[in-house]
Amino acid sequence: MDIYQILKMYFGYEEFKKGQEKLVRGIIDGRDVLGIMPTGGGKSLCYQLPAIVLDGIAIVISPLISLMKDQVDSLNEMGISGTYINSTLEQNKLMERLREIRENKYKIVYVAPERLNTGFFKELIKGVKVSLVAVDEAHCISQWGHDFRPSYLEIPTFINSLEERPVVAAFTATATEEIIEEIKYLIKLNNPTESIIGFDRPNLFYQVIKASNKFSYLLNYLRDNFQGESGIIYCSTRKTVESLARKLREEGFSVVEYHGGMEGEERQNNQEDFIFNRAKIIVATNAFGMGIDKPDVRFVIHYNMPKNMEAYYQEAGRAGRDGEKSHCILLYSPSDVVKQKLIIQNEYLSQEREEILYKNLQYLVDYCHTNDCLRKVILTYFGEMVEEHNCNNCGNCIDQSEMMDVTIEAQKILSCIYRTNERYGLTTIIQVLRGSKNKRLLEWGLDKVSTYGIMETYSDTAIREITMTLVSMGYIHMTADKFPILKLTSKALGVLRGETKVYHKKHLIERKGSARDKEE
Ligand code: ADP
Repeated sequence: MDIYQILKMYFGYEEFKKGQEKLVRGIIDGRDVLGIMPTGGGKSLCYQLPAIVLDGIAIVISPLISLMKDQVDSLNEMGISGTYINSTLEQNKLMERLREIRENKYKIVYVAPERLNTGFFKELIKGVKVSLVAVDEAHCISQWGHDFRPSYLEIPTFINSLEERPVVAAFTATATEEIIEEIKYLIKLNNPTESIIGFDRPNLFYQVIKASNKFSYLLNYLRDNFQGESGIIYCSTRKTVESLARKLREEGFSVVEYHGGMEGEERQNNQEDFIFNRAKIIVATNAFGMGIDKPDVRFVIHYNMPKNMEAYYQEAGRAGRDGEKSHCILLYSPSDVVKQKLIIQNEYLSQEREEILYKNLQYLVDYCHTNDCLRKVILTYFGEMVEEHNCNNCGNCIDQSEMMDVTIEAQKILSCIYRTNERYGLTTIIQVLRGSKNKRLLEWGLDKVSTYGIMETYSDTAIREITMTLVSMGYIHMTADKFPILKLTSKALGVLRGETKVYHKKHLIERKGSARDKEE
């Protein structure tokens, strides 16, 4: 049967989505493939369709244990025989499945990566013809990424242990160059056919909001936008999920909550209430969403900042899968950055890995402070060449707010960093500029430097805002540490000499700019 006939008969589609056909044909022709597609791009079909055509079984390695059952159920509904092997199965069920696999009852078997190299699984797979090994969420093999899973490193050993090398297909929604290279190298893809689908999602409107009161911003937003339609609100902790869901309910919104601490059944029910539109809004931690395919999510609001750009892009990308206009709004507050840093700190990682995580976090912090087109910042992160500078569909591009020349302020900040020998972090620099009487500052003699108190009339927030913007524009380098230190880059010289002007949104500087607010 021709692949278009299979596409129609099993999947019910007339056409392939962008990039799918190349990968499907590649696999069927016996070539390794690498599919880099954004969430919702249609990766599953790329291995499911060839699995039907190829002789033998396809093994799909996926870290998403909780979704395996759903995936297999939907395969079976389409008339493709599939099953899964993971830790949720009881022993007798497991034995039965293993027997059935040996009897060639299945075309597709989903396996959790931890299972692959157990003696048991290896024994089972002996004598079974494996046509294809598809590695889903392949970036989990990368130590540079945000989802590193050590068990992924075992995949090549597993592939080698098979009697005949199958076709190997890797899929990910992460497209940074370092990670792609690592995937190819570690999974040992053999001259793969690649499909890289653009990361731009033109229907998504991106925005960063610096609200002094997030909750009241949220209430206004929900009253003014997409009333009665579906949306996701992400929070960083279970506690915030619970309290925010309660407060929204009290305000009359149709809300369910979702986090890892809830009973499995309740979580499942809430998820279904959201998917089947019985509840309009789901307030959730990042435990929610992987593999969820709800097309009509009109907004994804991050009440707290996630840990990096990849996580943000994936979570925000759950909006507007149907291609209709949708919003992705990140509510920024500096305390969320501090929280994310604490999380990294508490993981007790190697220094190298810690630095990577700080660097990844910083990119998202830069995203929150840039005046540049937000879409451009996202696409640049994912390594896409961006020619157009204005998308006219993000918070920064449509922002009509007045820009103010902050070159003098920038010069003061840069000089202060220079005068204090590039040895301090943001908080200290702000204290020096504002002429703080903080005991430690006085002990260090920082009240003696020439920049002490030269921004006395500015608020902490205003100085922080300008400084972070200077970081995002590359005039200041923030070291990737637990306590980052500010240093000048070579670009800073132009600003110090007055050759380069710096602009910033006036309302963000003026808001508290005239009066000194309380010291933190
Ligand atoms: P990913 O794993 O890349 O996030 P999925 O494989 O879950 O994406 O697919 C996303 C959605 O696209 C699913 O609803 C799927 O049914 C749909 N889809 C996949 N291929 C096609 C196609 N050729 N035509 C139309 N819809 C498709």
